[in-house]
Amino acid sequence: MIFTQTTFLELVNCLKELEITASRIEKIKILSSFLKRLNDKEIHPTISLISGSIFPEGDRRVLEIGDKTLRRILSESKQSTLQRTPLTIITLFNQLEKVASISGKGSRSKRESVISSLFGQASNSETDYIIRILMGELRIGIAEGLILEAIANSSTADVSLVKRAYALTGNLGYTAEQAFRKHTEGLELIELRLFEPIKPMLSETASDLQNAFEIHKGKTILEYKFDGARVQIHKQKDRIEIFSRRLSKITSSLPEIVEIISTMTKAQEFILEGEVIAVDHKGRPLPFQELMRRFRRLSDIQKSMKEIPIKLFLFDIIYLEGKSTINLTQKERRKILEKICPDKLLTPRLVTEDIEEAKIFFDKAIAEGHEGLIAKSPDKKYKPGKRDRRWLKIKQVNTLDLVIAAADWGYGRRQGWLSNYHLVARKDDAYEFLEIGKTFKGLTDEEFKWMTTRLLDLKINSNRYTVYVRPEVVVEVAFDEVQKSPHYESGYALRFARIIRIREDKSPEDSDTISRVDKIFEDKFKRKGKPHKIK
Ligand code: ATP
Repeated sequence: MIFTQTTFLELVNCLKELEITASRIEKIKILSSFLKRLNDKEIHPTISLISGSIFPEGDRRVLEIGDKTLRRILSESKQSTLQRTPLTIITLFNQLEKVASISGKGSRSKRESVISSLFGQASNSETDYIIRILMGELRIGIAEGLILEAIANSSTADVSLVKRAYALTGNLGYTAEQAFRKHTEGLELIELRLFEPIKPMLSETASDLQNAFEIHKGKTILEYKFDGARVQIHKQKDRIEIFSRRLSKITSSLPEIVEIISTMTKAQEFILEGEVIAVDHKGRPLPFQELMRRFRRLSDIQKSMKEIPIKLFLFDIIYLEGKSTINLTQKERRKILEKICPDKLLTPRLVTEDIEEAKIFFDKAIAEGHEGLIAKSPDKKYKPGKRDRRWLKIKQVNTLDLVIAAADWGYGRRQGWLSNYHLVARKDDAYEFLEIGKTFKGLTDEEFKWMTTRLLDLKINSNRYTVYVRPEVVVEVAFDEVQKSPHYESGYALRFARIIRIREDKSPEDSDTISRVDKIFEDKFKRKGKPHKIK
């Protein structure tokens, strides 16, 4: 049956409304009522457009088109002078999918020509949003959680089913499409599938070992916490694919991991999880930056393999021989992992109820150059996409993952570099950021240069001293203490903040929230007296 397609302009108007609405509840209402108006065929394209998930492997960087190029295409593209056929959501989605799928020789100019003809068809306000979608930067204050609620709300599917489906597929558009199927059996039938990465389970922070033991009621499994990159490895006979924490396919940058996995012949089909770390020639762990350097380099993999050797440690199994294992307990999953995986690939662990023994294990992990430990509750299932207390990380230093919203030009030795970074923390579940401090500490010269180029690419506006950028770059910031402060809009400041890592593996949505800062602030009073005036 033919239906009248919804225009992209209608979506743009909805996006504008979302952008100026602060209340989360109102945003959910606006998005829900828009979704309700759509034909079922428009659900997937709409959600994919607003969540940026049109890009293969969920990563817009595969497009290799920057802000500047888009502006150039725009200035060169001819606006149609004839009566324009309105751009519909479906046409735009199909065209963008086409752009994302072009590869091989001459792909750059082919992509540019599709985009150019799209610009020719679009009005000014539509163009603006097309650019924002292409840049993966809608920034209309709607995080994943909010989109999931709007999907549940408008489709009347159960919100927990919607969340489960998203965690298992990592695909918002597909999840929405299934939710809108009659009686939601589509959602219920979604199961874990090989070569479709699932959102990984994440951990909360414990202040120390004692705290972890308390939360896990005296019984926990302790594992080394490696300072590397999370990998999800899917294997079926000879086919092996590796996915990153953000579900991008990274198989081609890790040939030696593929090689190792191909020797694991005790099972035919599995999905494993582990961490890849960079090591020196003696096998000692190298800083996380080294590993990122390797991921950044897309060509000459053979050379990077020699320069930056890597090592794999496996810690979980979520699928074996046609069956999901996520409903087994942590203890049971580890047992299975041990059966199919060679000892040298297993993450070192200690099962104990003794805090003294645990402390020795923690010191050992630190002495061997690792980040600390992860405590895992033995009797809990695997929860895809969930950050909760069944996994607790215990590190030596306090850190927060913050986002850079602006940077000041340096002077003296740092002249010409954007080197003093304005750090912001995310308001819970919203795409709003509040400033929490500034720092110029922690980066190497090479990183300052890299950061300067990166931030200039994200520039929104600037004055003589400061460049304001789209909040996209996540950095891990170590600090000594969280303090109350009237200087920053978050109401907090960080004492001795220094950047310890650029977290290119994280998106702003993965960054820490103000409530995490509240918690760190509150926690410090568990061991100290609390002045009356605070709170
Ligand atoms: P961090 O910023 O502290 O590295 P994170 O924010 O990247 O942590 P979390 O969920 O908070 O992510 O911590 C879990 C991460 O720790 C995993 O995603 C994984 O990359 C890493 N990791 C290292 N060792 C282990 C382990 N033994 N078990 C589980 N995760 C581990």
